[in-house]
Amino acid sequence: SSTKRSAGNKSTPLLFEQIGGQERAKQELIESLDFLVKEEQIAKLGIRPMKGILLSGPPGTGKTLLARAAAHYTDSIYLSASGSEFVEMYVGVGAGRIRDLFSEARTKAKKAGKKSAVIFIDEIEVIGGKRDGGQHREYDQTLNQLLTEMDGIHPNESPRILLIAATNRKEMLDAALLRPGRFDRHIGVDLPDKKGRLHILNIHADNKPMDESVDLEKVAAESFGFSGAQLEAVMNEAAIYAMRETSATIMERHLSMAIDKVMMGEKTDRETTK
Ligand code: ATP
Repeated sequence: SSTKRSAGNKSTPLLFEQIGGQERAKQELIESLDFLVKEEQIAKLGIRPMKGILLSGPPGTGKTLLARAAAHYTDSIYLSASGSEFVEMYVGVGAGRIRDLFSEARTKAKKAGKKSAVIFIDEIEVIGGKRDGGQHREYDQTLNQLLTEMDGIHPNESPRILLIAATNRKEMLDAALLRPGRFDRHIGVDLPDKKGRLHILNIHADNKPMDESVDLEKVAAESFGFSGAQLEAVMNEAAIYAMRETSATIMERHLSMAIDKVMMGEKTDRETTK
């Protein structure tokens, strides 16, 4: 979407502290990751190993950031792909790409001397959508390959694969993906509340010259319903307004105009897609 921007370079490590709000999602994810590394205890207790973590929630709420932070937290290499990259006209190409993704993760982790690799697949619903009786055979093959790869993940293999997927449309996912032993840990990533919005605004104000008069609490109150990506866009647009006025600092009116602009942008987006 037009409001999507990446927080810094994709390869720079990202800490959970750099993700605003999402306290519950962060805590649940960290718990899952802490659990994953306790291989011995898991084996001793005969617990079925966790294969994949599914992050679900509206666009721009920080799912990709969470996956990157998970990689850093577990000292893993990080590989990402989007579901749409596996959609190909020719049967078998998508499945081949899935296979390559997993083998690339293993090779890269080994080369880097890491014990694990995080594979992040965004828009998982594109490949993992409900199967509808043979109409989309190509999608079936790709999904089947993903299921095969998931079944092949072992907790004591080296390097260990941590699969994280994200979707805005959890209800569209094929039941096979949600079964125990597949994506059996689901973490909801919702729109931020006011406190979360303030936290996100503060993160994105960090590298910007904010005028002393600016009250980010007020901005957080006025941006009800905004996602993290939209809040990032507000801060960025406000800086652009400041620059246009050759103002050395970002002032309250720049932020108000930016809020309106981001809100309007969303409206026109929605109207044109009607
Ligand atoms: P999509 O479902 O569209 O892929 P997403 O949930 O993966 O979205 P991200 O890609 O993580 O969203 O977020 C997009 C950008 O929005 C980030 O690079 C960041 O600049 C900003 N952002 C989103 N959520 C947060 C957050 N919780 N804290 C700080 N920045 C955020």
